[in-house]
Amino acid sequence: MIKEEFNFGMLFTGTITFSLLLLIVFLFLKVFDTVYISWFKRPAWVHFYLYKKKLSREQKAILRKHLSFYNRLSSVGKRCFEHRLKCFINDKEFIPRQDFVFEEERKLLIAATAVMLTFGMRKFMLPILEKIIVYPTAFYSTIDKRYHKGEFNPRLKALVLSWEDFEEGFRIEDDNLNLGIHEFAHAIHLNSMKRSDTASLVFSDGFSELLRLLRNENLMTDIKNSGFIREYAFTNEFEFLAVVVEIFIESPSEFKRQFPSLYKKIQQMFNFRFAGY
Ligand SMILES: [Zn+2]
Repeated sequence: MIKEEFNFGMLFTGTITFSLLLLIVFLFLKVFDTVYISWFKRPAWVHFYLYKKKLSREQKAILRKHLSFYNRLSSVGKRCFEHRLKCFINDKEFIPRQDFVFEEERKLLIAATAVMLTFGMRKFMLPILEKIIVYPTAFYSTIDKRYHKGEFNPRLKALVLSWEDFEEGFRIEDDNLNLGIHEFAHAIHLNSMKRSDTASLVFSDGFSELLRLLRNENLMTDIKNSGFIREYAFTNEFEFLAVVVEIFIESPSEFKRQFPSLYKKIQQMFNFRFAGY
């Protein structure tokens, strides 16, 4: 009897000690993370998973065939990418419109675009986005009575794409036009405005710094005169970011050479420090 009570007491004390230890480690990591982010403008760690979901052999073959970003990752990086891709696909509702058919490859490439753009961020699920609606070609909007190639609708939590234009952006990797990158850049931007996690804070702070940078009239004149950034970017600050992210992904070397301060700001916002960037 006495022995049983003694064991229970030991167990209770052990549990309390272990919980306290966990709490101390958690608080330490939280403080370390906050200090690291404010100092280095990026999270101390990005990829940490207790269990990684896997893609099929066929799905990996699709990535190898179409996504140079994936091919440049290390084997550990590839496994993290595959895990994120699987989580992203499971989380979103893919809705085909008109006679569009969601073949495996199509769904994978759309989701891979989002996963690539958020690969330097700790949080990557974009809760602001629930549905991905795809039309075979440009779709008619009854709101502004025009045909659209793509749009992100935060009210409906939906990203809408024309497959024909998405596919063209994906196929031609160096013309600075990429519909998928453009629309997901909008989604990430708006997501960061509504959230307070590490990635969102780094992104929002970076965007404020980007706007400060663009107030430099000399830089703005150089940007406009260069013709490197297409006219549509100057519609408003949201479009500017989305267009510049397209260029960042497709022509990193030229972008870095022409506008290094702008390049560095985009790289910081997405924490995009991978081979080729
Ligand atoms: Zn846009």
